[in-house]
Amino acid sequence: MPELPEVETIRATLSEHLVGKTFVKAEFIYPKILKNSDPETFSAAISGQTIRQMGRYGKYLFFILDRNTLISHLRMEGKFYLKPIDAVLEKHEHVVFHFTDGETLRYHDTRKFGTMELVPRGCEREAKGLCGMGLEPFDESFGGPYLQSMAKTSIRPVKSWLLDQTVISGLGNIYVNEVLFRCRLHPETPVRALETEDFARLAEASRAVLSKAIELGGTTIRTYYSSLGVTGRFQNELNVHDKKGEPCPLCATPIAKIQVGGRGTYYCPHCQPKKG
Ligand SMILES: [Zn+2]
Repeated sequence: MPELPEVETIRATLSEHLVGKTFVKAEFIYPKILKNSDPETFSAAISGQTIRQMGRYGKYLFFILDRNTLISHLRMEGKFYLKPIDAVLEKHEHVVFHFTDGETLRYHDTRKFGTMELVPRGCEREAKGLCGMGLEPFDESFGGPYLQSMAKTSIRPVKSWLLDQTVISGLGNIYVNEVLFRCRLHPETPVRALETEDFARLAEASRAVLSKAIELGGTTIRTYYSSLGVTGRFQNELNVHDKKGEPCPLCATPIAKIQVGGRGTYYCPHCQPKKG
């Protein structure tokens, strides 16, 4: 599943190739991808509009047009491919966008979990799915005080709390494991046991881990875009995730694996002692 750094890499790649292209129409082979409209209304609305910018919030991709924004969530397996108009329609290609230059953008999704929604430009955060989302770590208002204000008296383990998209948007399992290692926090620490400096460190570590991952193109090794392979190198930077039994990079204690809220959780029993 692509996480925020992978979605950012996809956004940058799509931006290079799509900005300036003008839509002619959209064909929906699987109309259920579309959330708040029917295919005919959607296609008529985007016709003649140019892609001005590619944006992102959390794991949502924004195609920012003249008057509207197309919001796309790739979920598990969604991918975009740029193809010539006469390229045969392949299995799992559910949406075909036609551009005035004769190229097409194909939305490919083996699981069909992805979603698309068209909203007025500037109203992205009011869209279904986005309105209840917490701040993402790159938001200007994000920081220790924000996290502390979201914590209240929660007894939930910090691991599950950080994965909650209404608290932070776009921080997935791999990244939360790494953030907690950096903060020397046991994943099962109840949120109410965290102190002001813990929230500050969590905010800083969330930004740092995601920035590094974005710089390296994320972790997913997949071809997201026609012939351009987006190959993440962040997996080489992981300290604890997926490293059960391997020595901790700081103290050489074997990394432990437990389940927290049903998710695989990796930590160093020595560097991340339990508190609270
Ligand atoms: Zn350690």
